[in-house]
Amino acid sequence: MTTDTRLHPQLEILLQLQDLQSQRRELLEAEPARRVEVEEFHIDIDAAVAQLEVKIAEVRDSLAPNVRSRYDRVAGGHQRVVVPVIGGTCYGCFTMIATAATGAHRNDVIQSCENCGRFVYIID
Ligand SMILES: [Zn+2]
Repeated sequence: MTTDTRLHPQLEILLQLQDLQSQRRELLEAEPARRVEVEEFHIDIDAAVAQLEVKIAEVRDSLAPNVRSRYDRVAGGHQRVVVPVIGGTCYGCFTMIATAATGAHRNDVIQSCENCGRFVYIID
């Protein structure tokens, strides 16, 4: 096995942040029927959303300042802030990324798409 799939720790945090945000969105956009279903489990959606927001703020605070400011910019315009690059193509905006680093340690550095600005991780 190689270390090819290892991600930069900041990318792991960004992925977690992305997941928390999508969970929050899902709760906020839940259909009334879904809300009833969730609340039948004695979960107050508003409380759950509030809890997620606390977590989101905590996780965001753990980002390095330069990564955090880029995250804020990207998250303002896109739901997904981290996307894969497969075969040299950014799966956020579907343009080729010529400058993306390759090789065994390509995901050891934080890279972003020069076209859409999203953070990327490279998959062959
Ligand atoms: Zn892109």
